[in-house]
Amino acid sequence: MATTSYDVVIIGAGPAGYVAAIRCAQLGLKTACIDEWMGENGQPSLGGTCLNVGCIPSKALLDSSHYYHHMTHQAKDHGISVKEVAMDVAAMQKRKSKIVGMLTRGIDGLFKKKGVKRLIGTGRLLGDGKVKVMPKRGSGEAGQLLESRHIIIATGSHPISLAQAPVDGSTIVDSSGALAFGKVPQRLAVIGAGVIGLELGSVWNRLGAKVTVLEALDSFLPTVDQALAKEALQVLKRQGLDIQLDARLTGTKKTESGVQVVYQTANEQRQIEVDKLVVAVGRRAYTQGLGAEDVGLALDARGFIVTDGHWRTNLDGVYAIGDVIGGPMLAHKGSEEGVALAERIAGQAGHVNYDTIPWVIYTWPEIAWVGRTEQQLQKEGVGYRTGVFPFMAIGRARAMGEVVGKVKIIGDEKTDRILGVHIFGPHASELVSEAVMAMECDASTEDLARTIHAHPTLAEAMHEAALAVDHRAIHI
Ligand code: FAD
Ligand code: AMP
Repeated sequence: MATTSYDVVIIGAGPAGYVAAIRCAQLGLKTACIDEWMGENGQPSLGGTCLNVGCIPSKALLDSSHYYHHMTHQAKDHGISVKEVAMDVAAMQKRKSKIVGMLTRGIDGLFKKKGVKRLIGTGRLLGDGKVKVMPKRGSGEAGQLLESRHIIIATGSHPISLAQAPVDGSTIVDSSGALAFGKVPQRLAVIGAGVIGLELGSVWNRLGAKVTVLEALDSFLPTVDQALAKEALQVLKRQGLDIQLDARLTGTKKTESGVQVVYQTANEQRQIEVDKLVVAVGRRAYTQGLGAEDVGLALDARGFIVTDGHWRTNLDGVYAIGDVIGGPMLAHKGSEEGVALAERIAGQAGHVNYDTIPWVIYTWPEIAWVGRTEQQLQKEGVGYRTGVFPFMAIGRARAMGEVVGKVKIIGDEKTDRILGVHIFGPHASELVSEAVMAMECDASTEDLARTIHAHPTLAEAMHEAALAVDHRAIHI
């Protein structure tokens, strides 16, 4: 069998792999990217979890459900009376699929434009710089052989399953299933009040489902600033999400109309019956079919590929990036690793600043943050000052009718350097970029306080929160 040689072979075309591939090609490296994903239409589809069943389709449905909720709940406040608001879930799903199709085909276009060779199939490590591309997973068909000095594994992650709630794809589903419901379930339970569970719960709640979210932990969003998390919990409950903490799923039983969900609280065992159950208890590294064991690729106890500070695995010339190596399971984290690694392979000094990775939870209002929380700083014994400013006192937020939430900025007690920025409020996902930029430039809260912000904008809450660090906010 003929072997084709490349400078870099990348296994996986999610946001980590496809971005790495494009950057490698930009840097003049002969690059191939192998991906096995099959889209909704049964055709190969680039973009991995993020574009096919993650970031993008979830935001498409979040936006559709947001508009619906606005029409039915907020339009009146703006003096708009809508006689009849009809929901067409099939049309929403069609719109979602169209967006996914456009973006995934867009990556194919980018590969062609930038000179990345796209290979469809499953990539398997053979050792000594060799990779086999199997046209169909498990088919046993003869594949292509590739050789390369550099192999990047970017095979991503899959949802974690629970033995007590086996996913059947119709009544009990994972996040992918919850993005594909053909109609609004009347009663929906979500296991896990994490980033994904809250997003999906919000979509179906806004469209009219009665949503119960069961969370095993007794605290809500423990990695989020706890004052903001507490406020978010109240707001989400007011929106109708029945979020129950200290509620661990212990079993499920199919019924005629849906599924009975049994869970344990601190004091008692409870049960509810729902039409659909979503299991959203996190994601695990995906290395199946990669041949990791055969070539001795080191994985940690949780199945993540072990890498050093420069994304090198224990095998010579083999690297790994993205969800498959753990850390924040975020698309932009994987993409940044892809860029930095490509640059290192090309002899440059690619680097990822893990301290300035933004996090977003796409509820409404959104929760977004970068840097450390007060809880973390207290644990570390770092002295700090905080400035807090509510959206309620921001003119633009008032004009929008979006007055819930606040911005908190944390500065180092001695140096005033920004240590963390935490936002619960409208378009927090966009606002957080300013904070990331400030932290990337090692800015102080004083720098932010002296930065002119356009009026009237939501970003003025960032400005005022920075002023508040020094007790000189103007509008409160
Ligand atoms: P993946 O995107 O999982 O891609 C891996 C690719 O490798 C896949 O195409 C897979 O088919 C392929 N592959 C695996 N094994 C092989 C093999 N042996 N051969 C060939 N191909 C292989 N993150 C955000 O930052 N923002 C969000 O808003 C966000 N929303 C999300 C919403 C949902 C519902 C979900 C599920 C996730 C969301 N995420 C979000 C997380 C984000 O999708 C992941 O962090 C991201 O996709 C990880 O990128 P990756 O490239 O490492 O892996
Ligand atoms: P994330 O990792 O952000 O996707 O969040 C997943 C959430 O699911 C975490 O907050 C876990 O505590 C929660 N979880 C895990 N297992 C269970 C379970 N059996 N019952 C309820 N919640 C769970």
